[in-house]
Amino acid sequence: MAVAVYPGSFDPVTLGHYDIIERSAKIMDRVIIGVLNNNSKTPLFSAEERVNMLKSVTAGLPNVEIQSFEGLLVDFVKKNHADVIIRGLRAITDFEYELQMSQTNRVIAPGVDTLFLTTNLKYSYLSSSIVKEIAMYQGDISMFLHPEIARKVEEKMAARKKSGE
Ligand code: ADP
Repeated sequence: MAVAVYPGSFDPVTLGHYDIIERSAKIMDRVIIGVLNNNSKTPLFSAEERVNMLKSVTAGLPNVEIQSFEGLLVDFVKKNHADVIIRGLRAITDFEYELQMSQTNRVIAPGVDTLFLTTNLKYSYLSSSIVKEIAMYQGDISMFLHPEIARKVEEKMAARKKSGE
């Protein structure tokens, strides 16, 4: 069985992420989305909220499951008996960091390989941070996210504004 882990922050999940998830689910028998619960970053959504948003958008993909994780990615991969890490590549700017990470992971966990999927041209410019920036200034984010995710981002931004954050 080919089992892959697709790790990331997914803060929040975008249509670009979803495109990678859908394509990996066709290639692999099982895809585990690993939501990074990293204390050093301050995300807009908690790990639990990010997991739930991913569960909602992937409800129609039976071989995809969602978990959150802390610590080393390769440990999470091994714990799940996976052998492939999936990453998306958007532009050349992603390349250097991704190459370094995949090579490091291969040194510390030789049995684990990284599979890169190039982004769908439609979403090559898209990132969670851009979406958050647009939403912060009440811009229209509906073309970047599933409708229920766009709603959640707008609610979160409104709540932050209200509490003066
Ligand atoms: P990270 O903080 O690990 O980069 P992200 O949630 O930003 O987490 O991204 C997770 C993965 O999805 C990364 O491999 C990233 O390159 C990929 N990705 C992000 N946005 C897109 C997109 N628009 N198209 C394709 N891949 C993407």
